[in-house]
Amino acid sequence: MKYNIGIAGAGVAGLAAGILLQQAGHQVTMLEARSVAGGRIQSLVMNGFHVEAGPEFIHGNAKETIRLLKKYNIPFVPCDGKMYTAFNGHFQEEEEMITGWQDLLEQMQNLKMDLPFGEFLNKYFPGAEHKDLRHSAVGFAEGFDLVDIKTASTKALAIEWLAGESGQYRISVGYYSLIQSMEKEFISAGGKILFHHAVESVDCSLKDIRVYVKGLQPFVMDKFLICLPVGMLNPSATTFEGITFNPPPEQLNTFAQIGFGSVIKLVTIWKSSFWKTQIPDAHFIFSNGFIPTWWTQFPLDLPILTGWLGGPGAEILSHEPDEFFLEQALETLSAVFSKTVSELKNILFDFKVFNWRKEMWSGGAYSYATVKSFQSKVSSLKSWQSRMYFAGEAIYEGAHPGTVESALVSGLEAANLLLAEI
Ligand SMILES: Cc1cc2nc3c(=O)[nH]c(=O)nc-3n(C[C@H](O)[C@H](O)[C@H](O)COP(=O)(O)OP(=O)(O)OC[C@H]3O[C@@H](n4cnc5c(N)ncnc54)[C@H](O)[C@@H]3O)c2cc1C
Repeated sequence: MKYNIGIAGAGVAGLAAGILLQQAGHQVTMLEARSVAGGRIQSLVMNGFHVEAGPEFIHGNAKETIRLLKKYNIPFVPCDGKMYTAFNGHFQEEEEMITGWQDLLEQMQNLKMDLPFGEFLNKYFPGAEHKDLRHSAVGFAEGFDLVDIKTASTKALAIEWLAGESGQYRISVGYYSLIQSMEKEFISAGGKILFHHAVESVDCSLKDIRVYVKGLQPFVMDKFLICLPVGMLNPSATTFEGITFNPPPEQLNTFAQIGFGSVIKLVTIWKSSFWKTQIPDAHFIFSNGFIPTWWTQFPLDLPILTGWLGGPGAEILSHEPDEFFLEQALETLSAVFSKTVSELKNILFDFKVFNWRKEMWSGGAYSYATVKSFQSKVSSLKSWQSRMYFAGEAIYEGAHPGTVESALVSGLEAANLLLAEI
């Protein structure tokens, strides 16, 4: 039997699920709030340079992402530059991001009962002798995983950190090329995407599922797959209104426990790659400034430095205007490269701030497991009464949380479950 299947959200999770379901012989209609597909994957061109507002890296062992890039012949290049810590024009090459990292991982691996990461650090690495390790571990968890250490699951962080990374890659023609290829495959298979269709509510109280979009008659579906950012299912996590359900599926209580982190990503374009005289092979530069993490486009020779402020700091300051972040960035870079702010202003060509908490239809950057959501095994909650399904980067447990890989895996798993349940 051919089913009429709706999907909310044409991000990478929705597209992965849509291709599979459409190719399995069903009619799939995607309802997407934005005017384009891709969700958090947004590549743009600034002064002739490809720039990523959202994801930029492929983590080496992200199997599904790499499988798709190969399938669509999208080239990706290794980012094999060096890491430096910097202050006042002095740079030190770092092999390990955190001194004592192996001891930390071992203790995390041996943890019997899950704890919020902040409590874990205080319990197992107390006192003055571990001050630096605690400081660096908090910085990494907040900056990279965007967590609130008061609630984040240590066990979930351990799964990710212990898996490690076998290299990092980037798509020089832009991450969006993956979305374009997936969208093309979905449409060629007969799928439909309706843009500017923001789902407001879902009524599952009748035999059919009725999906409401403002100003339109309800869409009537046999099955409905929800591939939205977790903030849309947990309005208290964002400043946006979520969608409402009648009756509310019990999954919502668990989804409300998932953390949703913030990021301020700042792309700066310069008149020349001035850092190359000091650190020609740099990829990552860590500082103790206000915008602590920076990266170059190494090995590509491009005059772009990207700054990153993640976690609770980005959340608290998300109401600040873009100029505030530029000023802070220039102050940080002034200390890093021992140049005055006015010298830097003279060689700055362009900049753009991506403030993800304020981004409409995302409401945040990516998710993390809290102790509570980790206990609830969110990935086992993909199906509601074999009628409604949930996917997206947040509905995932594994070694790649908060990534394109987790969204792809989650979309495919939900679609396979739907197919198995009909
Ligand atoms: C700044 C930043 C940097 C990142 N860096 C990396 C990285 O380097 N590597 C990596 O692998 N991952 C990275 N990520 C994470 C990655 O981008 C996401 O995990 C992934 O893109 C999420 O895909 P998704 O399909 O689950 O959700 P989304 O991409 O958010 O898709 C959901 C879709 O739902 C739509 N939508 C929302 N509300 C409604 C509604 N009510 N009705 C209809 N449609 C709606 C949205 O418009 C969107 O298209 C980064 C993310 C950010 C923000």
